[in-house]
Amino acid sequence: MERIIKEKKKNFKSKKIIISLSILLILLIGFLIFEFILLPKIELKGKKTTIVKYNTKYIEKGYTASYLGKDITKQVKLSGKVNSKKLGTYKITYKINKGILSKKIIRKVIVKDLEKPKIEITKDDVYVCPGSEFVKEKVKAKDNYDGDISNKVKTILSKDKNQVTYQVKDSSGNTTNIIKKIIYKDIEAPKITLEGSEETYISLGVKFNDPGYKAEDNCDGDLTKEVKVEGGVDSNKLGTYQITYSIKDKEGNETKKDRKVIVSNGVIYLTFDDGPNSGTTDVILNILKEEGVKATFFVTNKGPDELIKREYDEGHTVALHTASHDYSIVYASDESYFNDLYSVQDRVKRITGHESKIIRFPGGASNTISRRYSNGIMSRITQEVLNRGFKYYDWNISSGDAGNTTEASGVYNNVVNSLRHDRVNMVLMHDIKPYTRDALRDIIKYGKNNGYRFEKITMDTEMITQRVNN
Ligand code: ZN
Repeated sequence: MERIIKEKKKNFKSKKIIISLSILLILLIGFLIFEFILLPKIELKGKKTTIVKYNTKYIEKGYTASYLGKDITKQVKLSGKVNSKKLGTYKITYKINKGILSKKIIRKVIVKDLEKPKIEITKDDVYVCPGSEFVKEKVKAKDNYDGDISNKVKTILSKDKNQVTYQVKDSSGNTTNIIKKIIYKDIEAPKITLEGSEETYISLGVKFNDPGYKAEDNCDGDLTKEVKVEGGVDSNKLGTYQITYSIKDKEGNETKKDRKVIVSNGVIYLTFDDGPNSGTTDVILNILKEEGVKATFFVTNKGPDELIKREYDEGHTVALHTASHDYSIVYASDESYFNDLYSVQDRVKRITGHESKIIRFPGGASNTISRRYSNGIMSRITQEVLNRGFKYYDWNISSGDAGNTTEASGVYNNVVNSLRHDRVNMVLMHDIKPYTRDALRDIIKYGKNNGYRFEKITMDTEMITQRVNN
């Protein structure tokens, strides 16, 4: 009896399991039919999770969609965007609707910085002075994403100190290592710096004083005392001389530098017209005395006698411009010119006791203003003054101080920019002008520093003449 009951129970259990399994099977088949036959299908080309390099455009690999065996790719709707300029994970959704049924697939796009930073080192090896320690130096590093990461560069010295590693890691973990050999050797030549100019003029007969030099080596330090100087200057002989400065460091690296010294015959005649004049001529005389320079003054009947006396007593040439400096009188006739000339000659003789025969025509020999008063007068009197034993001097450099130049800097520039070593420089200035007075010291300094000598006009000085135009 008990056995029968047991059997029945067993049968009942088996039936239950079979029913359950059947239901499950039906559900599974139902699900499969639903999923694979009734639901639309989307298939992605490429990977479901895609990595895109930072700053590189994401390109959609594509997809297909079907429903009940029909291609419905065109009905798929995409949403989501990838900003490749910003690191991160982006989602792209592919969706399709078919009646009440819909299907959705997501693709993950990860924008990543995969590029290693760059360390900027140009040299192949690192050289360290023998006997010295390797000193860390700043190295530049740039990253495509982080920008300048120079401050993140690590400098790692090997134990034997024969190798250095520069290492830098960007914020995404990309690491760059640059390994350099350290060589203990001085490969840099010393540097020589010349004081003064590399091409310098000195005046004939003036001793050349070397303006000096310095030598410095990256490893050996100051080597100035060991500089070899070769070549010399014979300042009594015109010409171009070369002085060579050379220096070797302990390693034998050598540097040479040359200086050209030109012994020049360049001469400057400073000439002052229209004076004398209190407040300018006196200061000009002071400057000339302080600088030890002699000049030439073409005077008129104006200004105090004492200044003409001073000009003469202090060794300058007192020369003749004309008494009135009035063009309408001076150039009215040949006779009128000589009357005016002799008038100022008398004044000078009265003050200095010396008869001057050195003259300058008002407006110069080339002036055209005299045409207004006497046609051809310049042609006649430029000849007649010579017949009467005078010498006349025009100029080849104008300071501009009787024209548009009304500042000391302008006077200075006009003069120094026109100076030349290969000729006599006859400079026209006016000692009645305050800006000329103020420019004088610098003009003299420039001349001295550039190998010119200053002279006053004497009867032996060759005439500097302009073309006669009337
Ligand atoms: Zn004048």
